[in-house]
Formats: sequence, C-alpha cells, structure tokens
Amino acid sequence: MTSAAASVSPPDNTQPNTEDPDALVLELQRELAEASPMRIIDRALERFGDELAISFSGAEDVLLIEYAKETGRRFRVFSLDTGRLHPETYRYFAEVERHYGIRIEYRFPDTVAVERLVRDKGMFSFLTDGHRECCQIRKVAPLRRQLATLRAWVTGQRRDQSPGTRSALPVVQRDAHPGRDGGPLLKFNPLAARSSADVWDAIRAFEVPFNPLHSRGMISIGCEPCTRAVLPGQHEREGRWWWEDAAKKECGLHVKSG
Ligand code: SF4
Repeated sequence: MTSAAASVSPPDNTQPNTEDPDALVLELQRELAEASPMRIIDRALERFGDELAISFSGAEDVLLIEYAKETGRRFRVFSLDTGRLHPETYRYFAEVERHYGIRIEYRFPDTVAVERLVRDKGMFSFLTDGHRECCQIRKVAPLRRQLATLRAWVTGQRRDQSPGTRSALPVVQRDAHPGRDGGPLLKFNPLAARSSADVWDAIRAFEVPFNPLHSRGMISIGCEPCTRAVLPGQHEREGRWWWEDAAKKECGLHVKSG
C-alpha cells in the first residue's frame, strides 16, 4: 500500500522520452550519476509515481523508505516474505509500518511449489543442493509477480556488498525482469555508490529504526537458516550462504539485463 501521509504525485509523463527505455536509462544515468540517494528517489518517484515501488528486505535498506518519506511524495513499499525470516525481522516489519504510517505490500511464495520442494527434499535442501532452487521458489518467483505490476523499482543494492557481482552497479539500469504488461522495467539503486559506513551514518543521523539482528553481528540479513553473524573485518557476504563459493552469493533477485 501507499504512504498515508504524503501527497499524491502522478507520474510525470512530460519528460524524458518514454518510448525507448534504453535511451531513458542513459538519460537518467547522466542526470543522476553523481546525485544524492534522496535526489535519485525523488526523481524516480517524480517520473514513475505509483508505477514504482521500493523493495524492502527488512535490513538497512530501510534508509530508502526514510528518503522516500523525506521527498514528501506518495510511495509504495513491497517485501518478500519467504516464510523463513527471523522472528525479529517480522517484528521489525511491523515497527517500520508503524514508524512511517505505511502498509508494506508482502509477496508470498507459491504454496504448491513450496510444498513440493519441502516434501521432495526437506526443509534444508539448500545446504546440500545450493541455495538457488529454494531462493527461486521463495524469492525470485514472488518478486517476478510483483515486478510484473510495475514500470520501475528501487533497491538498496550497493557496490560494496558483493565483490564478485555488484562492483560496477549503476544508479539506474534496465532490469532483465519484465515489468507491467511484459514491458520494460527500470531499476534504481540510489545507494549504489554508498558504503556500509555511509548507510549506517545516515540511519543514525535520521534516527531510523533498524533490525535488532544488526546489533548481534549480522550485517547482510536474509532468511534465518542462511544468515549468520560475521566477525569484525569479515566481509558482510561471509554471513550469507557461507557453505558456497563467495563469487556466487546472489539469490537471483538481481539479474543483469541482456
Ligand atoms: S535464503 Fe535460504 S531459506 Fe531463504 S529462500 Fe534462499 S535458500 Fe531458501
């Protein structure tokens, strides 16, 4: 659902050109390459209005919601409930809803697909088969259903999160997932150039509520069985799918456009 307090901002269809998504991406990249995260979100909301939604994982990407609120525009937030999140994360979702006066649009996995996986392979198949099959069912398929309703989305991805896969992440890109009516989809990454330290400085400055699991040494927070605390100096990705190759630690939510 949308923010209750902010004013309605219909999509700005006057500029730039909507006919060629690649040209639009290039134009927005030029305009926003050095822009602040808040400016990027403001521009994204101005351009796409209710046809855009912010993806919230229940971790430090809460900062995106804070910036969206600061723009004074109406905004939508969605999240993927995999069914395997920490109890603390579910309570944190409720706290964020209260704090911002919003309702998060939750997407759930397909019941039949989850039942088939668990009956065939058990509750912890990802430990032996790798995480991709489970993530595909519990995260990627629900995400695709959500994205099929949108023309653009906003993520909390940063270049410093995954050395193998995110080092060249742009602030705006064409997404390989199809958008509404099978059309093109744009992805905004307002925090792309920010470091983890930058994000935490901003969370403290804005006094934004954060997931208490961060205080227990968890930096990158996902599903409970696939998240663990990291030691000081360890990369945050060490806390996710630690039994797998570091260069392959993506859940499939973010795919490069062809
Ligand atoms: S993070 Fe783990 S439990 Fe969650 S969907 Fe992926 S493999 Fe499954």
